[in-house]
Amino acid sequence: MFVIMEEGAAEAQIEAVIGRLITAGFNVHRSTGAVHTVLGCVGPKEELDPGVIELMAGVRECRRVITPYKLAGRNFNPGGTTFSVRGVEIGGSHVVSIGGPCSVESEAQIELAASQVAQAGAKGLRGGAFKPRSSPYSFQGLGEDGLRLLRAAADRHGLFAVSEVMDQTQIPMMERYVDVFQVGARNMQNFNLLKELGKSRLPVLLKRGIAATVEELLLSAEYLLSGGNYNVILCERGIRTFETYTRNTMDISAIPVIKKLSHLPIMADPSHGTGRRDNVIPMARAAVAAGADGLLVEMHPDPDNAVSDGAQSLLPGQFTDMMRQVRLIAAAVGRTA
Ligand code: PEP
Ligand code: MN
Repeated sequence: MFVIMEEGAAEAQIEAVIGRLITAGFNVHRSTGAVHTVLGCVGPKEELDPGVIELMAGVRECRRVITPYKLAGRNFNPGGTTFSVRGVEIGGSHVVSIGGPCSVESEAQIELAASQVAQAGAKGLRGGAFKPRSSPYSFQGLGEDGLRLLRAAADRHGLFAVSEVMDQTQIPMMERYVDVFQVGARNMQNFNLLKELGKSRLPVLLKRGIAATVEELLLSAEYLLSGGNYNVILCERGIRTFETYTRNTMDISAIPVIKKLSHLPIMADPSHGTGRRDNVIPMARAAVAAGADGLLVEMHPDPDNAVSDGAQSLLPGQFTDMMRQVRLIAAAVGRTA
């Protein structure tokens, strides 16, 4: 932590701050510049709220230097984390694509989607069975029946299965059907859910909240890691900005930012990231070019009649085309897809 004193801060004010810091367990190194006095503080742990120091008389600014997340930080595993989901390596040189509908709707729909996703070369099948809808009157998902259909379709086509968990009470039941738990944007800071998922043996794909900073995303990942679950995939899925042309604003820059700050694999969801089918492929290309370890993309056999997120769901042919293009981009950045 460091403290910058106001220009012309009184000696008594400086000493009061130093005294407070020493009481909190810090070693304080004082440097007197031409204009400001700067206090460099090193302590065994930085638990003191910088805001408390900033309120003291004569203090201009107080900042933490150490990141508040320890296990999610790059230093914890500088080489980057990789793990396997049903034999598919996540976080390695292969860019892993997961495709499928927003919601599981019927056996025929998920079966067709799975065959198309597998044929296009993707490795994972997505499909929501518990849907976090803005309106309580919208389709809420097929529940356990949907998970059963998702599992069977994934198995028939050699794909791993990903589905959203909305509540901790669903975890034991869902563990019987899915290979990866998806935590949705709306639940990124559902700390009770994160704590319970920290105890699960299954990997978690953690989506960035619609108004969450990268630091908040990494702190949410910290809940999973500190609970003992190290198999975490982060996912950029667009954030809310003032722009209305797209549903969300896809924050491509979050990908290299997270790569630098964290060892965890980072995927991109250009479907929710843009909300428009015509923008999904360009953003998928951009995400892979920016270093994403995988893609989570909505694809529906008949998107115009989808029960949820049809407008952003690719047609099967478009999904295949996206995979072809992404392979070219991946090769350009030294990877496969
Ligand atoms: C989804 O993947 O269908 C979904 C609801 O995503 P998000 O939580 O990112 O909105
Ligand atoms: Mn969706």
